[in-house]
Amino acid sequence: MVNILQLFKALEFAADKHKLQKRKGGDSIPYINHPIGVTKLLIDSGETDNDLIIAAILHDTIEDTNTSPKEILRLFGEKILNIVLEVSDDKNLPKEIRKQLQVNHASSLSDSAKKLKLADKICNVIDIIQDAPTDWDINRKIEYLNWAEEVVNGIRGVNKKLEQMLDKVIISGKEQFITE
Ligand code: ZN
Repeated sequence: MVNILQLFKALEFAADKHKLQKRKGGDSIPYINHPIGVTKLLIDSGETDNDLIIAAILHDTIEDTNTSPKEILRLFGEKILNIVLEVSDDKNLPKEIRKQLQVNHASSLSDSAKKLKLADKICNVIDIIQDAPTDWDINRKIEYLNWAEEVVNGIRGVNKKLEQMLDKVIISGKEQFITE
């Protein structure tokens, strides 16, 4: 069961941390819409574990803002921190290395981190299909879809509904890009 008070505490925290950020697409969507969308997708796919839901709201704070692991630990506890850390890339590494590490590490993630990663990739793929960064050409979009698919192949078996949804969006994305 989700602790509603903690959920709002996480929303307030994440909204503040992401307040100056927008999603990468051309529509200038506030960044916080992304963790909200990922969390909604998890709940809609039958996930009710509190630590997972709170971690979903917070999942990009360490990677993409000045949030420290200590802050998450102090405010939300160790279990939630660990899930967030599992899905956070080390921004000190070059992008290509980070992308390869996601593929390599996917199968060794905890079930909660796998579910979160699945929902995150679904939302990111939908964003690329509907509102890609304006400087992305078709090759880059298809490359992103292929990479997302590769990461997800290492994390199958935790939530059928999410897996099926990801397969569907990747297929429809590729069809759309090829006919563009
Ligand atoms: Zn994300």
